Amino acid sequence: MRRHGTGSRPARGLLLTLMLVVWPLAAPLWAQALLPGAGGEPTSALASASASAALMPAAWPYDRALDDQLEPLLRQGFDRPEQALHRLREMQKDRAHARHSLPLQLAEGRLLVLAGSFELAQALAQRLAQMPEARDAALALQAEWADRQGQGERATALARQALAGLSLHCPSAASLQSPNASAASVSAGVSAPGRSALPASCDFRLSWSVLRLIERNQIRAGTLPLAEATVQWALALAQLGGDRHLAANSMGSLAMIAQMQEQADVANRWLAQARQLAQGDALALFKIKNYEAYVASQRQDSTAKLRALEECVELARQADAPRWLAQAQSNLADAYLQLKQPARALEVARQALPLFEQRGDVRIQRTIRHNMAVAYIQLGDYEQAKREVARIEAMSQGLVDQGLRVQELRELGEAWTEAGQYKEGLAAYHLERRLSADLVEKNRASALQQLQLKYDSERKQRDLELLQRDQALVDHQLANRQRVQQVGVAVALLLGLSLILVAAMVQRVHAAHKRLRANEQLLKAQSERDPLTELANRRHFLAVMQEHARREFNGALLMVDIDHFKHVNDQHGHGIGDVVICEVARRLSLAVRAEDLVVRWGGEEFLVFAPGIAPEDLLPLAQRVLQGIGGEPVASSEGPLRITVSIGCAHFPLQPSGLSQHWEQAVNWADMALYTAKSRGRNRAAAIITVKAGDRQALQQIEADFDAACSSDRVQLQQVLGPGA
Ligand code: GH3
Ligand code: MG
Ligand code: MG
Repeated sequence: MRRHGTGSRPARGLLLTLMLVVWPLAAPLWAQALLPGAGGEPTSALASASASAALMPAAWPYDRALDDQLEPLLRQGFDRPEQALHRLREMQKDRAHARHSLPLQLAEGRLLVLAGSFELAQALAQRLAQMPEARDAALALQAEWADRQGQGERATALARQALAGLSLHCPSAASLQSPNASAASVSAGVSAPGRSALPASCDFRLSWSVLRLIERNQIRAGTLPLAEATVQWALALAQLGGDRHLAANSMGSLAMIAQMQEQADVANRWLAQARQLAQGDALALFKIKNYEAYVASQRQDSTAKLRALEECVELARQADAPRWLAQAQSNLADAYLQLKQPARALEVARQALPLFEQRGDVRIQRTIRHNMAVAYIQLGDYEQAKREVARIEAMSQGLVDQGLRVQELRELGEAWTEAGQYKEGLAAYHLERRLSADLVEKNRASALQQLQLKYDSERKQRDLELLQRDQALVDHQLANRQRVQQVGVAVALLLGLSLILVAAMVQRVHAAHKRLRANEQLLKAQSERDPLTELANRRHFLAVMQEHARREFNGALLMVDIDHFKHVNDQHGHGIGDVVICEVARRLSLAVRAEDLVVRWGGEEFLVFAPGIAPEDLLPLAQRVLQGIGGEPVASSEGPLRITVSIGCAHFPLQPSGLSQHWEQAVNWADMALYTAKSRGRNRAAAIITVKAGDRQALQQIEADFDAACSSDRVQLQQVLGPGA
């Protein structure tokens, strides 16, 4: 006998039928790609995704409005596929839908699957697969078909391939915020404006159903976190698409997964949210009740479970949904078995069975028949039980869901044993052991594969870290090099700048130096010039003489003195005296050659140095000076003044001796001649023509007594008279 309602018995039958109930039609590849669940090809996700990306140009002609029209049809199709097919074919004939040929064909295929017309559905899937734009749809259809055939793993593999293409048009799981079981997510959950967040080409319902197939496989494989992530994605798509029915369904599924992970509170919250969302939708409520029954059975709350399932039957009747009713009855049968009520179990199972036979739904038929077999055993009708077991065996051909088989065999074995049928019990037990050994091996291989993948991903992570460290090092070196370059540029700039500064400074110093020199020259010029007459002064003459002294002193010297100047001052004042001095200076400069030097020697005395002049030019020069100054009266504020000068002059070297003289001596000779000119009556020049002296000593004797020398003819003087003298 089977142990019903004991803690050790998992709600196997319920889970199976639940899956069929709540996953009427059937992916997150992203999660699979990261850590593939048992039975998933580890690389299919990314590979398919990239393959589909390559086929991107051929997009599935999705039409949201049409999808909204087809959705109720497909829901109806679950219960009454023939009617739904009929309505669909009417739509296909309608010209308005001419451009919707492909989506209508897909809907037809799905209805054919629901109607159990697998050959037709398969033919249609193959036709769709020929068209690149319908490739993902064909895969989804094939997945559903495989699922109905009880080929769970094949269904999942096909679903993943379909999703890889479909998800390219939809928001990725990563881009969607995971909904959680908080109260807020219900109100924020399903809203029409949310649809605007979905790209127009995102067939969210087909994606949702494909995700559902994948989720189912993940639950079977026991990879619950992956299953949870898959449902979260499906829920987000349903919410964005504004489909309350699908969203409520996903929430129920999340409740189931939470309960499987023993998170009772989370499960309750999801159920509450799901119920709220399903209000007014008998079918949606029916599905939520199924989840509730599952959660109750997990909690070993037989009463709550039974109540939920009975409510399910009621809701299915209200919704006038024969298929849902049959499934609810099938679940109820399982519950009765647990409560050791085989007669009631058999009754509801029998009510449920015909519909699934008619639809060719192998999986659920097997479950119902299995429950019937157990019921027969419990009722002692072993022959009937064996017939049911034989039918299950026949249906199991080609089934790959070994976990389910093992579960069934265990239950059968227990039932046989409890009924005292040890031979049958033992046979079931042996078969179960063999299959479960296979299963363990398979699970071990899958676990190893996961471990290997985990190891690979860790190794990749390490490689990545090493690469990142290398990159950081290279970045660091580059940054250093950049810094060095920057310092170099800065140094070059500073150097350039300092060079410019130095050049500017040198220029300024140079300019200052030039200015200084100019100033010096100016000062020098000023210091060598007589301020009153602007003639050269004695200091300048000294400088010229020092320069001249290097060469032989050659030229004429004329000492010029204004006659009786004292009287001018005395009679007309110093101002007029100054005017006279200036005018004499001007006339003197005009009387001599340009190259001759005129010096203001003292108060009213002037010295003329005429270098390089010939001896015979001396007298004419003296003549020009006398005439130049004394020829015209000097105009003054007090009327014209008659001004004359006296001149003493000589040509050097003195003739005939030609002895060289120092300039001071030369000046002295001119001065002595001037004295003679004054003493002989003024307004005249006394020029020394010859000096008879053989040597320097003789010259010195003449200097000592010039007058006597003049009288004794040792010195020959010649007078030049001034105007009017
Ligand atoms: P002599 O014919 O003998 O040269 O008679 P003198 O009066 O010209 O000569 P003396 O040496 O006796 O007088 C020169 C005068 O010139 C004396 C001085 O006051 C005057 N004197 C000298 N320098 C200046 C000057 O810059 N301006 C004026 N107004 N008078 C000056
Ligand atoms: Mg004088
Ligand atoms: Mg004088």
